[in-house]
Amino acid sequence: IRAEPLIEAVGLSAGYHGNPIINDIDLAVHAGEMVGLFGANGAGKTTTLLTLAGEISPLGGSVSLLGAPHPKSLFKAARQGLALLTDDRAVFPALTARDNLRLGQGTVGRAIEIFPELEEHLDRVTGLLSGGQQQMLSLGRILAAKPKVILADELSLGLAPLVVKRLLLALRAAADDGAAVLLVEQHVPLALAHADRACVLARGRIALEAPAAELREHPERVSDLYLSGS
Ligand code: ATP
Repeated sequence: IRAEPLIEAVGLSAGYHGNPIINDIDLAVHAGEMVGLFGANGAGKTTTLLTLAGEISPLGGSVSLLGAPHPKSLFKAARQGLALLTDDRAVFPALTARDNLRLGQGTVGRAIEIFPELEEHLDRVTGLLSGGQQQMLSLGRILAAKPKVILADELSLGLAPLVVKRLLLALRAAADDGAAVLLVEQHVPLALAHADRACVLARGRIALEAPAAELREHPERVSDLYLSGS
């Protein structure tokens, strides 16, 4: 028997100003799972994550978090162990790396276990770190708090492939530790290399859901859906 999903959407529709952008989405992520959410620009990936996070209210359907109805606010969901990660880094550039880590819910030591390469930069001003180092700092701070549900939106925007791989491996490790990870990522092959399963959105609907292993063998099944338009 499979464990209950940590986050689940059933028949979910959502959008802006009452106009649906995503329609009738069924999506569940279980403890220990990392799921990639893909699709062309405008397909509705960010809207899906924001709705699962509680930032956008559903127009239809429902979201459950940890087996209970979603508290319908990101603030409350975060207190239950949900983390929403965006590409904006969310670090304080004028503070040192160490002070940025201290602002998190986890310990500095735990963040350094996740990204040991940050240790030598702990006393540097964060704004002087590279984009990749800042994103590792931001992710390390969040993962150190051991969130149960992680929704990650294009963390790797503008970062070098080697850094992207480090971020993906850290998310993979969090899933292996029991978190449910849902990941929007432009680098589809790289994400498929580490994910368990993938969903592809096209025009606000789930057009394909398959094990990542299957899509690694047939990447054209994903790319064809990007060409079908958003
Ligand atoms: P991208 O890769 O470009 O971020 P996406 O798949 O994440 O694409 P969304 O960001 O969810 O797609 O956007 C889907 C649609 O919703 C787009 O057509 C966009 O114009 C529209 N949209 C996004 N944010 C808003 C908003 N705040 N108000 C109105 N429409 C919005």
